[in-house]
Amino acid sequence: MHVGALIHDSAMGDKKFGAGLLDLLLPRECGGCGRTGTLWCGECAELLRDHPVQLSPRVDPGVPVWALGRYDGPRRRSVIEMKERGRRDLAMPLGIAVAGALGTLERWGEVGGGGRTPIMLVPAPTRARAARSRGGDPVRRIAESVREKREVGSVEGRPVRVCPILRMTRGVRDSVGLSAADRVTNVNGHVSLDTTAVSSIVGDGDIVLLDDVLTTGATAAESVRALALSGIRTTLVLVLAGA
Ligand SMILES: [Zn+2]
Repeated sequence: MHVGALIHDSAMGDKKFGAGLLDLLLPRECGGCGRTGTLWCGECAELLRDHPVQLSPRVDPGVPVWALGRYDGPRRRSVIEMKERGRRDLAMPLGIAVAGALGTLERWGEVGGGGRTPIMLVPAPTRARAARSRGGDPVRRIAESVREKREVGSVEGRPVRVCPILRMTRGVRDSVGLSAADRVTNVNGHVSLDTTAVSSIVGDGDIVLLDDVLTTGATAAESVRALALSGIRTTLVLVLAGA
């Protein structure tokens, strides 16, 4: 029997059996360091528990920018695994890490005041074609994972809402290899609000723009600007890694 058909059939009949079969077919490999036998190892989980660091991007979005850390080690590898190899399973450990960093920023008073007003997590816009080829938007998936962790209370902090309201309009190139100035020109005027989704923003909760890697800050700055044009004030930008 064709392997794909076998997975399909077993997944229909017995979910557990299907998952077990997939484990046999796909090598288990830590998304952070490549260690075999686990999808995310304890050491990488520990590294991602470090305190967030504040960045000073070349293109200043005008609001504080925080990162889980530098673009190296498990942060770099997991982003590449998600983007290039479609490792959807990494949204969970990365979501836990982001939820933890958000909790630290809450304790530090960088985000969230008193009360239980939800934090609105806005995924940074992605080029539609790039997101499609990756099988969906990894940043949005991480944001959903943060929301789930907060909902079930496995990571402490105020509730989180995911507000996917930013869109990248056509004509934006892949920014790899572009200079800081070219990156600004590339995204300038190309971030817009999805008017059908704006209603997901409610009340006066903090707005946190979430992205995977911050290189120059051009996309973050353009996103903050697009939100401001619609009267939405961004509290801070949080990224997995700062280049
Ligand atoms: Zn690892």
